[in-house]
Amino acid sequence: MTRYHHDHEVVVVGGGPVGMLLSAELRLAGVDVVLVERLAERSPHSKAFGLHARSLEVLDRRGLVGRFREGARSWANGHFAGLPEWVDFSVLDSSHPYALLVQQTRTEELLEAHALESGVRILRGHEVTSIEQDDGGVTVTGTSAGGDFVARARYVVGCDGGSSPVRKASGIGFPGTGGRVTARLGDVVLTAENPPMGMERTERGLLFCVPLEDGYHRIATFDFAATKDQGEELTLDELTASMRDIWGTDLGAHDPRWLSWFTDSARLADTYRDGRLLIAGDAAHVHFPVGGQGLNLGLQDAFNLGWKLAAEVHGWAPDDLLDTYSAERRVPAARVLANTRAQIALMNPDSDVTALRDLFTALMRLDQVNLHIAEMLTGVDVTYDLGPAEHPLTGRFAHDLDLVGDGAPKRLSELLHGGTGVLLDLSGGNAVTAAYEKWAAGVTDASRLVRVSATCPGEPELAALLVRPDGYVAWAGNRDAELEAGPHAAAVRWFGTV
Ligand SMILES: Cc1cc2nc3c(=O)[nH]c(=O)nc-3n(C[C@H](O)[C@H](O)[C@H](O)COP(=O)(O)OP(=O)(O)OC[C@H]3O[C@@H](n4cnc5c(N)ncnc54)[C@H](O)[C@@H]3O)c2cc1C
Repeated sequence: MTRYHHDHEVVVVGGGPVGMLLSAELRLAGVDVVLVERLAERSPHSKAFGLHARSLEVLDRRGLVGRFREGARSWANGHFAGLPEWVDFSVLDSSHPYALLVQQTRTEELLEAHALESGVRILRGHEVTSIEQDDGGVTVTGTSAGGDFVARARYVVGCDGGSSPVRKASGIGFPGTGGRVTARLGDVVLTAENPPMGMERTERGLLFCVPLEDGYHRIATFDFAATKDQGEELTLDELTASMRDIWGTDLGAHDPRWLSWFTDSARLADTYRDGRLLIAGDAAHVHFPVGGQGLNLGLQDAFNLGWKLAAEVHGWAPDDLLDTYSAERRVPAARVLANTRAQIALMNPDSDVTALRDLFTALMRLDQVNLHIAEMLTGVDVTYDLGPAEHPLTGRFAHDLDLVGDGAPKRLSELLHGGTGVLLDLSGGNAVTAAYEKWAAGVTDASRLVRVSATCPGEPELAALLVRPDGYVAWAGNRDAELEAGPHAAAVRWFGTV
């Protein structure tokens, strides 16, 4: 029996980290959004352990990074394929050149609180069972303890994980490679006194072992020889047998509070949009969780999509704006899939791979190689192809510039807290103002793009920047550039004419 029926502009399916951030972004932009999550409560188990630089920069653009940093340790290093040479993040050209050690449970708690504060309606204990789109909208049906439900929306976004019902309903292809490595994971208590720390490669596979804060250890074995049937649960006996096989001892592992297994299956959706259905996060890309990149990738999907979908809903989006989401975000996802495949290849226990690891380890001592890998793992090298551009900053994430305006110092990130675009005028002249006023005169509500005049002593050549709500530079001009037609065309291109 259908118990109730809602009409919403957007339904987000899935209340993991990506669904929570996306729905908050939509709400910030004034969209009527409901989030539907099948779990009655958040999972107590942390998959991810940390946030990387680009995610921290993104959270900073909404004033959220402070709450993530509170009580969390930061770490200047990461690893690539468990090689003995650490990746040094401190060299990153970022306002957050470190990894923040924050468990996924905490990330989810903070993002859910943020979504609720933003006014998102969250329906927990609601499982979506069918999604059908037609010309006028999408019908979502499902079940909950209170009975069946039906919701009608203009758009539905699947943030519903790797087996995404929304992606399946859309028919979007999810090509890639199946699992060849079996990872067995347990949060367990160890009796062994000095267990190994980090990743240890043997001729039988890999052992991952790190202490958790409360007497438990996270153990994972990477087994390159055996596969497991889908749906088959992992037992403690199977985990300890795998530890003995790979490491020679099971370290006295007992009292598991979480057992799970996964593979190195790597898949990328053909497109992130089919009409009124969109996908983000693991629904759009899955890969082996080496290097800690999946959640980070998903948060950045949410940031890219939120303002564009809001623009579409509000009716001011330029024709192709929503499609730029898939075009822009598939590129970094493909690169993450590629680098995780490369890491798996380097972790293979085959003796021939040992020589390759030694070579890679030596290469990583080179500053340029370290920088390349650090930028890749943290997403700091993500730039978007925004078409022909005269300025090298176009398509790049805007630096958190120190600004002086109205006598008060400000950082660029603070100007983005409201989720609007920003036309930053550092020129001291009239041309940028004229460009803005011309654009604003043509639209019914210009509040989606704010103009800010300031000076930036650290960037004396820079005259103006058009920054999208997701923090990426849509247009930039130096003092010698033409400062009226350029910013006006870019405002039209990204913020429409309606
Ligand atoms: C062992 C492990 C370690 C990892 N470590 C890291 C790391 O260090 N760093 C990192 O960046 N990433 C890491 N990842 C990856 C990261 O955990 C995922 O990328 C992240 O959880 C994806 O978030 P999401 O919101 O897209 O999907 P999910 O977290 O999978 O959330 C999807 C949500 O959708 C809900 N849902 C599904 N179907 C329905 C339905 N029909 N109706 C309603 N709700 C539904 C689910 O209940 C779930 O809450 C790791 C993954 C694993 C397995």
